[in-house]
Amino acid sequence: MTVSNKHSLPDIQQIIQAACIKAKRDPQTLQLLAVSKTQSSDAIRSLYQKGLHRFGENYCQEALSKITELADLQIEWHFIGPIQSNKTRLIAENFDWVHTLDRLKIAQRLSEQRPPNREPIQACVQINIDQESSKSGILPADLMELLKACQNLKGIKIRGLMCIPKADEDPEPRFKQMAALLAQAQQVGFELDTLSMGMSSDFESAIDAGATIIRLGTALFGNRQQKL
Ligand SMILES: *Cc1c(COP(=O)(O)O)cnc(C)c1O
Repeated sequence: MTVSNKHSLPDIQQIIQAACIKAKRDPQTLQLLAVSKTQSSDAIRSLYQKGLHRFGENYCQEALSKITELADLQIEWHFIGPIQSNKTRLIAENFDWVHTLDRLKIAQRLSEQRPPNREPIQACVQINIDQESSKSGILPADLMELLKACQNLKGIKIRGLMCIPKADEDPEPRFKQMAALLAQAQQVGFELDTLSMGMSSDFESAIDAGATIIRLGTALFGNRQQKL
């Protein structure tokens, strides 16, 4: 099944539950990240009240106004857009997670700029799993070196890997490659526990391959709004 339009939260939770059973996985090992780019603070508040407490945003300025407006809620904010180096301070100061880490310089800046009173920012390394020159993310072959270089940074904790596979191809082999890459990194001693993969149209396949965070926008909010 693919989910390309808005569903109620209970419906989505049921589809996730069924995918977990099919994959023989405990649903507790999976987190649902609601991707709220272009959606209003009211729409976020409404899903929060239904029990979702993790939200993902792609654009710093847009996110900041919502983070301010929703400061009364206990939201865990995830940054999932491309990271420009002049935006790292805003990300380090306002987000709990970042999914799109793709170079050492960004990791160093996030670490330095993380306020000392907050726990390290939690991060996933974005993998360019289709090895497309136009895509962001690092190549699988460059992963171990980046993980090693990030190990002694105090303000950032690398938790795992993230990918956005090509839209027009079967994502299943890509998701499996991601799971294998995570296992490889774990085997050589990196303490990673997160695979951020799966969007509205392909999350069941991602769950089957071992995703631990699925990132759903359209399925939860419907079509994206005009840019705020
Ligand atoms: C927009 C976005 C999503 C959500 O996409 P949907 O297809 O609407 O579920 C997930 N991940 C990233 C990185 C995104 O930019």
